[in-house]
Amino acid sequence: QSSIVSNFDFFYFVVQWPGSYCNLKTACCFPQNIKPASNFSIHGLWPNYDDGSYPQNCDPSDEFDDSQIEDLVPQMKKNWGTLSCKNDNSWFWEHEWEKHGTCSGGLSQHQYFEKTLALLKSVDLLGALTSAGITPSNGATYDVSAVQKALGNAIGFTPGVECNTANNKDNQLYQVYICVDKDAKTFIECPVYPNGKCKSKVHWPKF
Ligand code: 5GP
Ligand code: 5GP
Ligand code: 5GP
Repeated sequence: QSSIVSNFDFFYFVVQWPGSYCNLKTACCFPQNIKPASNFSIHGLWPNYDDGSYPQNCDPSDEFDDSQIEDLVPQMKKNWGTLSCKNDNSWFWEHEWEKHGTCSGGLSQHQYFEKTLALLKSVDLLGALTSAGITPSNGATYDVSAVQKALGNAIGFTPGVECNTANNKDNQLYQVYICVDKDAKTFIECPVYPNGKCKSKVHWPKF
C-alpha cells in the first residue's frame, strides 16, 4: 500500500486505432518491425476527475520495473505496443505507469497492467463497428454519432471518441475513451467527455 494516495473519480480506458497514427505527417514504427493486428490497441488507463481534469505522476518513487510484469509481456506486446518511432515498448509502458498508473489509487504495477489488458479483452469494439456496417475504409465517411452508438451497444455506455487529422487532411477516428469505475473493471456512464475534435462525418482508415 503506497503512502501516497491519489484521489480520483473514474478511469478513461483509452484505445487507439493504429491506422490513424500511422498515416500522420510523421511516420510510425513497430517494435521488431512486426506489423500489429488491424485492431484497436491500448494507449492507457487514465485516472480522471469528474470535472475533466486529472492527476499525473503521483509517486515518482514507484519506478517502472519490468521484472514485475514479465508474465504479461507477451500479451502487452500484442495489445499495448508502441507505434512511435522515438520510443520502444518499455519506454511507452514506463511512461504510462509513471504518469497515470501511479495515480490509480494503490494498484500495483502488475495489477495496473493486468486489469488494463483484461478491459481490452472484455469488449469487442471492432466487432461492434463491423456489425453496424462501419468498416475500415480509405474512402468512406461515417456519422460520428453512428460510430459512438455502435461502440456504445458493445460497451453498455456511450464512449468518447477522439479524432486527428491525417496527412491527407482527413478527420479520422483515432482514439476511443471508455469510462471505467475505480475498480478498473466495470464500465460506467462517462461523467465527462474529452474534447474529441471529431467532425460530424469521420473517416476510419484501413490498417
Ligand atoms: P494530448 O494532448 O495528445 O491529447 O494528450 C497528451 C497526454 O495527456 C495523453 O497522452 C495523456 O497522458 C494526457 N491526457 C490528455 N487528455 C487526458 C484526459 O482527458 N485525461 C487524462 N487522464 N489524461 C489525459
Ligand atoms: P500520454 O502522455 O498521452 O499518455 O502518452 C503519449 C506519449 O507516449 C507521447 O510522448 C507519445 O509520443 C508516446 N507514445 C509512444 N508510443 C505511442 C503510441 O503508440 N501511441 C501514442 N498515442 N503515443 C505513444
Ligand atoms: P509525445 O512525445 O507527446 O507522445 O508525442 C507528441 C505527439 O506526436 C503526439 O500527438 C503523438 O501522437 C505524436 N507522435 C509521437 N511519435 C510519433 C511517431 O513516431 N509517429 C507519429 N505518427 N506520431 C507520433
